[in-house]
Amino acid sequence: MVAEKSADSQNEQPNDILVSTQSVVRDALNRLGYPEEAYELMKEPVRMITVRIPVRMDDGNIKVFTGYRAQHNDAVGPTKGGVRFHPDVTEKEVRALSIWMTLKSGIVDLPYGGGKGGIICDPREMSFRELEALSRGYVRALSQVVGPTKDIPAPDVFTNSQIMAWMMDEYSRIDEFNSPGFITGKPIVLGGSHGRESATAKGVTICIEEACKKRGIDIKDARVIVQGFGNAGSFLAKFMHDMGAKVIAISDAEGALHDPEGLDIDYLLDRRDSFGTVTNLFDDTISNEEMLELDTDILVPAAIENQITKDNANDIKAKIVVEAANGPTTLEATKILTERDILIVPDVLASSGGVTVSYFEWVQNNQGFYWKEEEVQEKLREVLVKAFNNVYTTAQNRQIDMRLAAYMVGVRKMTEAARFRGWI
Ligand code: GLU
Repeated sequence: MVAEKSADSQNEQPNDILVSTQSVVRDALNRLGYPEEAYELMKEPVRMITVRIPVRMDDGNIKVFTGYRAQHNDAVGPTKGGVRFHPDVTEKEVRALSIWMTLKSGIVDLPYGGGKGGIICDPREMSFRELEALSRGYVRALSQVVGPTKDIPAPDVFTNSQIMAWMMDEYSRIDEFNSPGFITGKPIVLGGSHGRESATAKGVTICIEEACKKRGIDIKDARVIVQGFGNAGSFLAKFMHDMGAKVIAISDAEGALHDPEGLDIDYLLDRRDSFGTVTNLFDDTISNEEMLELDTDILVPAAIENQITKDNANDIKAKIVVEAANGPTTLEATKILTERDILIVPDVLASSGGVTVSYFEWVQNNQGFYWKEEEVQEKLREVLVKAFNNVYTTAQNRQIDMRLAAYMVGVRKMTEAARFRGWI
């Protein structure tokens, strides 16, 4: 069992994602001409909850886990966003991620504000039974402040449809109603939506297609590198491969695999474990750092934060960087890549396919009428093509990078809603 990190041992990170998110939010609000109050409201979640969750472990001992839920802003509607289970979760990270969820909902125009949750734990070291107890304990601790019309969780790093099912069941028991709309990313038999599991990767794929059109790249035969082989990375590698692109490298937390002729993605998908680890089965691996600097057309960071920094941005050879992960590129690196004319499709746009299909799932739960897979895919494409082009045109018109443009599009809805409500 990996020792739990105590909440107060969390120091400032070198590339502080909360500080950098706030600085882009401020820039976006300023450029839109909103007053300082708008920034004051937007810079932090309106509600930040810390919970302590006691779990009886398989060895008979009680272990108390720390969890968080950030509700960034509910001016537009209920807050919405995933829950991650990871040893590196920090309160600050959850706060920043909740702001990103507000931005994502604004960019794809959903009736939600942003929310995010996390538990400091290592699910790779936990049994099924322990994970169930932890998931249920988290919901019990938060039950008064979450719910289908208040705050709607979903999967994120190292959480999946089984965890959503346990959480939904726990909430339904407390609520004394069957409440599928409490959480999204559920198994289909419990009210999950077709297309939700692959939705983040599908959204990234649509963004890649649009970005390739702008840069005159033919996806067929284009070289693609995918960092991370979890939910987003593995589905994405498959979609790219099926579209005729050459996936020349993939990685997981332990290393990377490289083949200039293209990897056998179906084989790798077959061999990966449920946390997306596959490189441990091979001898001739390279490091994640080396992989990022390989010659390629498209680079998709689909793992964790702060992967492209000022230290390696000058060595990135991709023509397009599409951020499937949250926060993989620092602001300094964004500047360097933009100056080098590398197009960056930012996380808040590229990874918004997940929350978009979560919205579809919630709508289906609320109406009790379920859609076919094709209907989901068609609606997702419509939403993302529109969002991509809205952000791209904003960037072109204002001569700014797509990150700042996405933030400008993303902050507008929440700010306008807060104004009409008389909050600012
Ligand atoms: N965790 C995903 C994200 O960061 C999905 C959130 C959701 O579906 O609510 O966008």
